[in-house]
Parts: sequence; structure tokens; C-alpha cells
Amino acid sequence: MVKKKGKTIVTVYSAWCKGCGICVAFCPGKVLEFDEHGKAYPAHMEECINCGFCELHCPDFAISVRPKKDEKCIDEMVKNKDLKK
Ligand code: SF4
Ligand code: SF4
Repeated sequence: MVKKKGKTIVTVYSAWCKGCGICVAFCPGKVLEFDEHGKAYPAHMEECINCGFCELHCPDFAISVRPKKDEKCIDEMVKNKDLKK
């Protein structure tokens, strides 16, 4: 199955990241890099193929990979809630 790029939101909770480098080394899309504090961050999120490796293998549960449509749903929910006020 070919996975499409650019359909996901990759979030790294930097407070939980210990900089082990597993995600940076093994991400097939080379999405993740280290910042100046030695924490991983999604430098090339548009290259993510949603394989889930980083989320599954981060020893500190510091990464979340979600479809972009989830973010849209949340935006809609917030908007609808605001309209009801
Ligand atoms: S696998 Fe987790 S702890 Fe290790 S560098 Fe990546 S985000 Fe940080
Ligand atoms: S889901 Fe896969 S391609 Fe996307 S950032 Fe994680 S390891 Fe890389």
C-alpha cells in the first residue's frame, strides 16, 4: 500500500523527549531532527507517511501522529461551540 505524504500532524512533547534519537534515526521519511536543546521535532512534517513508527517506538511516549482531519474536526468543534454562545 502506498501511503500519501502530508496527511498527518506529528507532535513531539519536548518535555517528555530525552533525546534518545530512535525516532530521528529510523523515521523512513527523515521527518524528525534534533533542535538546539537535543530534543526531537518534526522538521519536515510534509514528508510524513503516517507509518506510526515514531509514536510506537518512542520509549517516553513523547510523539503523537494524527491525521490532519482530526485537527479540522477539533477546529470545527471549537467554532461551533463559539457560535452557540
Ligand atoms: S524517540 Fe522519543 S525520546 Fe527518543 S528522541 Fe524521539 S521523541 Fe525523543
Ligand atoms: S509516522 Fe513514520 S514517517 Fe511519520 S514522522 Fe513518524 S516515523 Fe516518520
